[in-house]
Amino acid sequence: MSNASLVIANWKMNGNRALTREMSEILRDNQADFKGVKVVVCPPYTLLADMAGHIYYDEIALGAQNVSQHENGAHTGEISVAMLQELGVEYILLGHSERRAEQQESNDSIAAKAAAVTQAGLTAVVCVGEDKSQREADKTWSVIQAQLEQSLAGLSAKQMARVVVAYEPIWAIGTGETASPAQAQEVHAKIRGWLVENYQQVGARVPLLYGGSVKANNAESLFSEADIDGGLIGGASLKGEEFSAICRAA
Ligand code: PEP
Repeated sequence: MSNASLVIANWKMNGNRALTREMSEILRDNQADFKGVKVVVCPPYTLLADMAGHIYYDEIALGAQNVSQHENGAHTGEISVAMLQELGVEYILLGHSERRAEQQESNDSIAAKAAAVTQAGLTAVVCVGEDKSQREADKTWSVIQAQLEQSLAGLSAKQMARVVVAYEPIWAIGTGETASPAQAQEVHAKIRGWLVENYQQVGARVPLLYGGSVKANNAESLFSEADIDGGLIGGASLKGEEFSAICRAA
């Protein structure tokens, strides 16, 4: 049986106003089956206001895919936590592997963003994950541990209570190759152990999401694992019925 409680849709650079309307209607029609699962939709920045206008039920929340670490000022092209907060954003993805690779986002900048997000009372969804060569070289845990140590550096226990960790093996993102439930659970159990060692009871309560080619047909087996508290969903979150089925499996 699943004990998952949080499912996050990462639309990446996809979608339009028609999709925000379609998705909100499908989620509204299916939400009675989600049974206490919090569903967060992270569209691109330009669709946040539109999506906010369509969220009129409690268990669906708005998320963003990135944020600036700065409060305001001369940072052309950047968006601040306060700007997102004003739109009703509650969750912010940080350190997605695509941003780490394409924007050279460092653990230090992720830590600064996590500090800004949690200080403002929003939830930081901090992504970690190893690539294929690191897994094959048996370096999975050392890579994840270093990402956790550096991306969460300096957060107080109070701030950690506003953190979600998403384990997303890079080799499984958008590839159709999913970590098996046992592979995912093995890493999640180590992340949980690290969180408890460093943040005690607060660490025990940090939700741990798995991401990487989660689909309607594999969600239930992943969500049944003891330390998998939900999912971060990319491609399948753009298809309303499939995304609803994943939320139902949680
Ligand atoms: C993601 O990008 O966060 C992700 C998990 O993508 P996908 O589900 O498409 O693998």
